[in-house]
Amino acid sequence: MKAKKQFSVLALTASVLLTGCSLTPDTNATVSKTGFFLDTVVSLTLYGTKEEAPLNECFLLLETYESLLSRTKEGSDVWKINHSNGSPVVVSDETAQLIQTALDYSVRSDGAFDITIAPLLDLWNFKPEQHEGTVPDADQIQEALSHVDYKNVQLDGTTVTLLDPQASIDLGGIAKGYIADRLRDYLVSKSCGSALINLGGNILTVGEKPDGSAFRVGIRKPFSESDKQLETVACKDRSVVTSGTYERYFEQDGKRYHHILNPADGYPVENGLASVTILSPASTDADALSTACFVLGAEKGLGLIETLDGIEALFVTDELEEIASSGFTAYTIS
Ligand code: ADP
Ligand code: MG
Repeated sequence: MKAKKQFSVLALTASVLLTGCSLTPDTNATVSKTGFFLDTVVSLTLYGTKEEAPLNECFLLLETYESLLSRTKEGSDVWKINHSNGSPVVVSDETAQLIQTALDYSVRSDGAFDITIAPLLDLWNFKPEQHEGTVPDADQIQEALSHVDYKNVQLDGTTVTLLDPQASIDLGGIAKGYIADRLRDYLVSKSCGSALINLGGNILTVGEKPDGSAFRVGIRKPFSESDKQLETVACKDRSVVTSGTYERYFEQDGKRYHHILNPADGYPVENGLASVTILSPASTDADALSTACFVLGAEKGLGLIETLDGIEALFVTDELEEIASSGFTAYTIS
């Protein structure tokens, strides 16, 4: 009995060594992998190791999550919900958990964050990188808007029912954050305690650098070259997520129309903000809050942030004025 127990412990150690992060004596060692998932460039870096196996596992996880949460992948949980015509759909635990969190953020933001925004997104049809599009007709917007209401998403355990059969959901405002958190959990479980997860600019730092210093994460200056930084923040076990008007948008008659929509009127949010950056321990929170606070605007958004422990925000206006939450400057590096 005792011998058997010893054997299983050894087997476990061996498997951790095979797939986990074995540290090299060289603290400058890093290993990275880049790919395209969730409509965006994804890059992962492990520090203090040369092990590639955990990175490859993370990319398999990305594939799994994409096949659950994508709106366009046929057969995904979200696809099934959107094609259910109001019938109950049983989804994975992960999808149910994420939808619950998204609904919680709808309540907290008084409907500013709303995953039933999908019919409006279909209408506006913003495309990544290509800044092309047409403003939809006002009556089409009204019709799509009549199906936008997070209260029509009923979640009972892992069963999702759309109370309005013409409603549909889109997790684009929260899924990257959620997936980043799941990748972090996986890496930590494999003893990879120092890593940088970048899902299309949605950043999650795992631990600290092997030399004990913090990761430095740049906050981009809106409307400028991507390497121009407005601020740099020092992060250990922190996520940094920005929502802005300058990535997914098109222009018509000299006016810019971007991809963060106001569930109150069906149009891109216009409140003088160019970007909102959130700093928080969990990336799911940073992602949902960056979108929610963008819709809420500087005043109400800041009000919400100040009620949340350990979460900071930077609001940047079109004139590049910076409005920070009370604890934000503790993270900035000048
Ligand atoms: P990105 O993911 O492009 O970096 P965000 O996190 O701000 O930026 O998410 C914007 C995405 O969120 C949109 O592309 C759309 O999928 C979705 N979305 C747009 N408006 C809302 C809203 N009011 N509530 C929830 N999700 C939204
Ligand atoms: Mg977001």
